[in-house]
Amino acid sequence: MNLVDFHCDTIYKLRKAPDQRLSKNSFSVDAEKLKNSGSIAQFFALYIDLAETKDPFDEFIRMEEIFRREIAANSDVLRFSGSFGELLENQRNGFISSFLTVEEGAALEGSIKNLVELHRLGVRLITLTWNYPNCIGYPAFEGKYMDMGLTDFGCEVVQAMNHYKMIVDVSHLSDRGFYDVSEVSRKPFMASHSNARSVTNTPRNLTDDMIRVLGNKGGLVGINFEKTFLGNSEQGKISEIVRHIDHIRNVGGIEVLAIGSDFDGIDTPPEISDISQMGKLLRALEDNGYRQDEIEKIFCRNGLRFIKDTMS
Ligand SMILES: [Zn+2]
Repeated sequence: MNLVDFHCDTIYKLRKAPDQRLSKNSFSVDAEKLKNSGSIAQFFALYIDLAETKDPFDEFIRMEEIFRREIAANSDVLRFSGSFGELLENQRNGFISSFLTVEEGAALEGSIKNLVELHRLGVRLITLTWNYPNCIGYPAFEGKYMDMGLTDFGCEVVQAMNHYKMIVDVSHLSDRGFYDVSEVSRKPFMASHSNARSVTNTPRNLTDDMIRVLGNKGGLVGINFEKTFLGNSEQGKISEIVRHIDHIRNVGGIEVLAIGSDFDGIDTPPEISDISQMGKLLRALEDNGYRQDEIEKIFCRNGLRFIKDTMS
């Protein structure tokens, strides 16, 4: 089954372990595992940790170099994609599309010029915040900023991202920030790697109302495999992933669902230890009564519709 995954942190892992490569590594995502996963598009996040750098834009440049080098080194399997058309062309030619994303809007350092530069270098999605306040807004981290919305600059960023056909990602963003984005954005937006708060109560997950808002606007929820967002078990379980999918489908409709594994940014669930294991989730969904066309929507069709709507 074709697969679109909207979030992995593998490039950050490579940044930390310079001897590792994207062709084949000990992490959860590499070219070989992607080939075995049915992937047609992988979104690669450049995760910038503000605790580690005072120059987030420079850090973005370092990681973008790694991304570009690794995609070029694996051009037999992976190709850069910056649009829906390029995705289709890559798919026709048997290549997996690699989308470049940034997880931490502080990379903009408060300047729309930097946003334009990110776009020029190929970035097509920005996760507006991570777990710290930044020039755009406030995080959902520990729930202490939940009532703080987008800054004026943050509103400008969302409008500019609409203009440049970049995906606005509200995972990690405060609740108030979510609703500000839904007011300001003229395009559908997404939570690339978040689950349902009424199933697992953590500020990183979405309320039922947020899931409905995303569903009504043609947006997406990318299901995250992180154990603390899935439930209370020691390790993330496939049955818990299915529970979140069931709930989000019931609340927001099947069209709102997508995959945002968060591989290489989480403690890997042993039941799905890497991207090549996605067939196990497919079979679990079949066992729980999902039809092939519904699973296809979750794995790729909704993602393709959304990429088309936001990037063209
Ligand atoms: Zn994240």
